[in-house]
Amino acid sequence: MLELETTSPEQTESVAAALATRLALGDVVTVAGELGAGKTTFVRGACRALGVTEPVTSPTFTIGHRYAGTVDISHLDLYRFEGVSLAEWGDLEPYFDDAIVFVEWPDAGRGTLPAPRVSVELGHVDPTTRRLRFDAADGALLEGIAGAHPRVRHGN
Ligand code: ADP
Ligand code: MG
Repeated sequence: MLELETTSPEQTESVAAALATRLALGDVVTVAGELGAGKTTFVRGACRALGVTEPVTSPTFTIGHRYAGTVDISHLDLYRFEGVSLAEWGDLEPYFDDAIVFVEWPDAGRGTLPAPRVSVELGHVDPTTRRLRFDAADGALLEGIAGAHPRVRHGN
């Protein structure tokens, strides 16, 4: 587990960039947290670091977006899902094909969607401060993120 605090949207994007550059095709990253916590800001920072120049916006009213960067990046939002049925998986599966996948509001997909390599949870501390918690089996990946941001507080 890695915990960081950011004090601006730009800093959250920069932490996301440090994660993104350490990901590989097929990796799934879940991004949880309440409304306005910074989930889409985080995904935007990851996409920018991977060469996406088009707008990165919340796909709340569609199943997802697929962006072309140096690799393909899928951006899903399961806000409206109760669970993921076989039929819904049929619609979602193509987003997992040959892409790095970010999933906002991931709870409905737990156990059904491919297991995440990294789980991120964002929470409000104050209007401009967010706490970011990262969970991953790969400790080196977490150290890489922490090492890229020595000025951001991190604990265990
Ligand atoms: P979500 O997708 O979780 O609903 P968004 O990323 O769409 O959240 O919105 C987060 C909002 O909070 C944006 O308006 C952003 O500018 C603001 N914000 C303020 N401070 C931060 C921070 N430290 N990190 C991320 N977003 C921040
Ligand atoms: Mg969002």
